[in-house]
Amino acid sequence: MKCRQIGVVKGTSYKEYKKIKRTLLQVAQKGVSLSASITVEASIVLPLFIFFFTNIMMAFNIIKMQCDMEAALHQTGNELALFAFDERCAEGTLGIEDDGVSTVSGALSVFYVKGKVESYLGEELEKGCVTDGRAGLSYLPSKIMLGNDIIDIVIDYKVHPLISLICFEEFPVEARYYGHAWTGYDISEGAAADENEEEMVYVTEHGEVYHRDINCNHLKLSIRSVSLDDIEKERSMDGSKYYPCEYCGGSISGGNVFITDYGIRYHSSVNCAGLKRKIYTVPISEVGGRRPCSGCG
Ligand SMILES: [Zn+2]
Ligand SMILES: [Zn+2]
Repeated sequence: MKCRQIGVVKGTSYKEYKKIKRTLLQVAQKGVSLSASITVEASIVLPLFIFFFTNIMMAFNIIKMQCDMEAALHQTGNELALFAFDERCAEGTLGIEDDGVSTVSGALSVFYVKGKVESYLGEELEKGCVTDGRAGLSYLPSKIMLGNDIIDIVIDYKVHPLISLICFEEFPVEARYYGHAWTGYDISEGAAADENEEEMVYVTEHGEVYHRDINCNHLKLSIRSVSLDDIEKERSMDGSKYYPCEYCGGSISGGNVFITDYGIRYHSSVNCAGLKRKIYTVPISEVGGRRPCSGCG
């Protein structure tokens, strides 16, 4: 009755009112089904979303752990290298015979490394992604100055994601420091090797002879300036004539030119590349077709 009154007031027939009511009901029903679908989707997707993001964050955590481990090893390895230098230095100063047993080498330094790495990583080691925390780190493959001066620290451990999955379970990782102790090289060994080495001789880039003596006169450049008109009369120490330089001699028409005592070219410029000489030290077996120098060979 009330509805009819409204209908009358608004100028709407009862038939139209029924139609509107039906549409409203439909809208209401659709609305209800819509919100239900969101709830269902959210209940499936949200846990998956959270799960994947947690695991991605964990992957970053694993990478960070590896970086920290490498940093700790770098720090510790360098300290050991320095200790080795101190030890070798003290032996040298005090005149102690090297008995082959070093305090830096062996099991003792592995304990030192273990303590250093664990204190560097701190609580992160227990709470992070490393399986079994401190107890999960294995230093067994490490070789610290065993027989040589190489410091090789290896840590094997396993890391795991927050939630283990098929294909993404715990997996093994290795961190490593490899370096030479700061002890330098043994000079006496080098000297012993030198005795067996062949003779070293001196050659120039374009020279036809090799020299046994670095102070040989033929290796010295004595540049003189002469007039171009007199160049025909000039002779080098070997008695040979002077010809124009292949680099700078093309455009000489007059004036002064530059020659050397043992050269065979005359130059227009004192800065010419042909007037510069590079002396190389080579083993005598590598002189090629060069003859021994008449002055020193
Ligand atoms: Zn010579
Ligand atoms: Zn020249």
